Amino acid sequence: MKTIAVLTSGGDAPGMNAAIRAVVRTAIDKGLRVMGVKRGYSGLINGELFEMKKGDVSDILQRGGTILRTARCAEFLTEEGRKKAAGVLKVFGVDGLVVIGGNGSFMGAQKLSKLGVSTVGIPGTIDNDLSYTEYTLGFDTTLNTVLDAINKLKDTSTSHERVSIVEVMGRDCGDIALYSAIAGGAESVLIPEKGFDFDELCKTVLEGKLSGKMHNLIIVAEGIGGSQELAQRVEEVTGIETRATILGHIQRGGSPSSFDRMLASRMGVRAVEVLLEGKTSRVIGIRENRITDDDIDEALAMPREFDDKLFEIAQMLSR
Ligand code: ATP
Repeated sequence: MKTIAVLTSGGDAPGMNAAIRAVVRTAIDKGLRVMGVKRGYSGLINGELFEMKKGDVSDILQRGGTILRTARCAEFLTEEGRKKAAGVLKVFGVDGLVVIGGNGSFMGAQKLSKLGVSTVGIPGTIDNDLSYTEYTLGFDTTLNTVLDAINKLKDTSTSHERVSIVEVMGRDCGDIALYSAIAGGAESVLIPEKGFDFDELCKTVLEGKLSGKMHNLIIVAEGIGGSQELAQRVEEVTGIETRATILGHIQRGGSPSSFDRMLASRMGVRAVEVLLEGKTSRVIGIRENRITDDDIDEALAMPREFDDKLFEIAQMLSR
């Protein structure tokens, strides 16, 4: 292994830059040449590669987003597109590729490895939806962003004695909603893993009011959605003014938390080590505070285990 490349793909997440920095600096430290690929698989197909030096990753550790930019690439879904990408890597003399992204990006990396390129994935997605790893890069920072918004919304909803519905990201995974409900002291949390009963929800709102609660916070996961309509229905049934806030893309930005910077640094270093160990088609993760590497197929096939205890905690502490 003489030359490796790194790219970011799919949705961006805080901590991606910290991971790029770790990959570049570790690679150079180990005597490798390292190339950056712009715009994910799309840039790879178009040959947007450039050599990176240690100074190219200065001052990015603390920045959200990704200096390499990111993209979704339909052409890479085809065998022909992936062959083009593998051809480009050959032309640039790249033997190993680090892919920082989510589950779709990993499937791409897995298919690319079948074309002779050693690949390793770093889980960069705010959704925390990869079952083989306890945390993905960006999840913790996103939680902090959501908590900041919740604090502000609580101020205003307490003043007006309103019900506040906050919709957070996460696609089919309820982790952002569940964790922010616990850490933000929400009265109810609606996540796709559990579904919800509308009458129960209204009952919780009314009981809260009767017990003297000044505000009522309902966190809704993206996988449930429909927050505006839900607010209208809750207001109709309970008679309490209800407002919905959809936090949207603000959740993807911001300086990564210390947790995400540490995770990105540890994972970035490990990714390069894995390539140097001659492995391919691996994904880096964290379990019980140990950095792991698993076969991509096995990692993606691991069933998601929902943490019922956390859901119980969210419910018990909210009443
Ligand atoms: P996030 O979870 O943050 O959205 P992601 O990596 O899951 O990140 P996707 O849009 O699913 O985001 O995937 C990113 C890119 O990876 C796609 O645009 C495509 O180029 C490639 N990709 C996705 N799925 C596959 C697949 N099954 N085979 C080959 N390439 C794929």
